[in-house]
Amino acid sequence: MALEITQRGDVILAKDVCSSDGFPEGISVGMFVVDGLLIDAGATKMAEPSGDFWKESKISQVVITHNHDDHAGGCRWIQDNLNIPIYLHPDSIAEAGSVVVHPKYGNEIWGVLQPYTALPMPKTISTASGKYSFETIDSPGHHPCHIALYERNQKWLFTGDLYLGTKMFFCYKDENIKQLLVTLENMLELDFDTVFCAHAGFVENGKLRLQKKLDYLKNLQLQVSELREGGMNDKDITAELFPFDFPFGEVSEGDWSPYNIIRTI
Ligand SMILES: [Zn+2]
Repeated sequence: MALEITQRGDVILAKDVCSSDGFPEGISVGMFVVDGLLIDAGATKMAEPSGDFWKESKISQVVITHNHDDHAGGCRWIQDNLNIPIYLHPDSIAEAGSVVVHPKYGNEIWGVLQPYTALPMPKTISTASGKYSFETIDSPGHHPCHIALYERNQKWLFTGDLYLGTKMFFCYKDENIKQLLVTLENMLELDFDTVFCAHAGFVENGKLRLQKKLDYLKNLQLQVSELREGGMNDKDITAELFPFDFPFGEVSEGDWSPYNIIRTI
């Protein structure tokens, strides 16, 4: 593992690619540092190689957008090595502090998520020098306890896993696309330019890109409801609208699937 670090103004992006035998191409996993505030902490595999980066960038507080393995993996290392607060959605704190058995495929890609102690997410978080202030916004859909961070003066939106790309071909079993649609509509009410995505990195014209994702999902929702009205079940609708071999279905034991989108849209 080797972190790739890029910087735009005061925002530092550190990313790496996590892979396994089942997912040889790997998945890009990123985290951001803004004036000492770490936004997401990567996967467990990235923790050891990220230690120097976290120390050099003088992180003084941590925000986890949601308690998925590829966002919270570094928390235990940070807790053991740096005495700084880690903020998380209040309804995820108990889960974060317990030993949870994760699917094998996830452990192989990300490493085994270790329990950590988190504090409840405040409504706003100011950075170390006071230069930036983030509003923390409930944004369920990808995860029921997902938080986005909005810096109103800079027109920045840190979207965790709300964006990822303008289209979606699969999602996790516990995602709720109907809820994601509401969240995307709420996000688009905000005045922002740049999106900071944990997997796509710096996204220019972020508002336009997020709007494109919303339009794509609304169109998909319309198609699904028409096919349902025509008497088709969700399995058949999935085969009709995603007529390709999905390579990760079996490896992820059904945790990732196009069907999860159709079922919850
Ligand atoms: Zn996620």
